[in-house]
Amino acid sequence: MESPGSAFGPLSRSESNETLTKQASTFDPERQHDSATAKIVASLDRIGQALRSLLWDQTRATGLSPIQIQLLVHLRYHGLSQSRVGDLARQFDVTPATISEALSTLVDKKLVEKRQDPSDGRARVLALTNDGRRRAEDLGTWATSVEVYLKALPEGEAITVMRVLMGIIERLQRDGVVSVARMCSTCTYFENHSGGREQCPYYCSLLNKSLAERELRFDCPEHEQKVDGASSD
Ligand code: SF4
Repeated sequence: MESPGSAFGPLSRSESNETLTKQASTFDPERQHDSATAKIVASLDRIGQALRSLLWDQTRATGLSPIQIQLLVHLRYHGLSQSRVGDLARQFDVTPATISEALSTLVDKKLVEKRQDPSDGRARVLALTNDGRRRAEDLGTWATSVEVYLKALPEGEAITVMRVLMGIIERLQRDGVVSVARMCSTCTYFENHSGGREQCPYYCSLLNKSLAERELRFDCPEHEQKVDGASSD
């Protein structure tokens, strides 16, 4: 079954690759002129640019690199189960060596420390020190100024945008372009009863909880990847 409320019809990996290679550049203004999809992708690119620019403002203010800031914020809001070097490399789509280098500076600055992994005594996880935690909470607001612009959207429109973006990310993950996306729609515990009459058509069988559309999670700590092709019904 397609993801919750997906606006997309089925498209295989080979079809999607073929479609992409046939397209002209998204950034050709002539092509953008009469293409809503090209304008959407160009807009996402521009928003990404704005977010990177805000992150660089924090970099200039703190002397930390963008990846170091992202690591601090990630460690603040995610558990130890997602804080091995390999987890962090997958999360940020960089090599383990890049993560290790960024972390060694954070360890030197006493913002991060290595701890024994509670689930595997031979492994090490990364955790924030008290100073690191305070720093991460200050730094974690760098994207909020973009979110402020979305607050003016009526909830129905915001949910539609959310669903469309999550649908795109799900497809990018399926094609290996996005490495990590812990969304309900790709989770083994997710049940989709949207074909019925239920007021809350979505259900998490791990949390034993009905989920309204706006509650569908984007980055769930309990997420377990659904095996490809498994139904969410
Ligand atoms: S475990 Fe998390 S991601 Fe999975 S269905 Fe439940 S709420 Fe959604």
